[in-house]
Amino acid sequence: MEVHNVELTISAVKPEQYPDKDFPEIALAGRSNVGKSSLINTLINRKNYARTSSQPGKTQTLNFYNVEEQLYFVDVPGYGYAKVSQKEREKWARMIETYFSTRQELRGTINLVDARHEPSELDVQMIEFLHYYNIPVLVVGTKIDKIPKSKRNKVESQIKKKMHLNKNDHLVLFSAVDKTGKKEVWDWIEKMAIK
Ligand code: GDP
Repeated sequence: MEVHNVELTISAVKPEQYPDKDFPEIALAGRSNVGKSSLINTLINRKNYARTSSQPGKTQTLNFYNVEEQLYFVDVPGYGYAKVSQKEREKWARMIETYFSTRQELRGTINLVDARHEPSELDVQMIEFLHYYNIPVLVVGTKIDKIPKSKRNKVESQIKKKMHLNKNDHLVLFSAVDKTGKKEVWDWIEKMAIK
């Protein structure tokens, strides 16, 4: 999709605040610092539109971005930030469980993992959670520009194995620096959200 118009419709913490237009939604989830804002900015051709909401002290919200009056990107606050309190973690878990278990408009989730490291226990928990709710998943391995081309096949099979990807899951290696994988990510979004 050629994107020109994007607008942050709302930062929501509860269902009453979710947008009431029934556009299809694609959620994006991953550890803090995984490169989620950079992926969103690349997809919408902006430099600094989506900002990371994962710093401690910042309110953890689901950010709904209206993309071309056709779909919403739902930016799920990053998990795994060491300094977040137990109470904040529980609040995060309740908020995302509510969203993922009830949202009719949700068509799929992009689960980001840092391609430079083995997926963490939290990454595995996240994909198991998405599988439990039967939500279609695209795993995006980020920062792939940091991995030599000769090692990328190995990285791919490591992610597939560690994340227990099944035949319905898809995997794309991505770089916000050189835009590797941008088209593949858009192809998946269009397949899931735009009929
Ligand atoms: P977020 O917390 O998940 O939203 O992560 P950000 O998008 O803010 O990125 C975290 C850090 O990783 C920043 O310093 C980015 O510049 C860097 N980063 C993000 N994507 C890439 C990428 O594709 N390649 C490289 N080399 N660095 C990246």
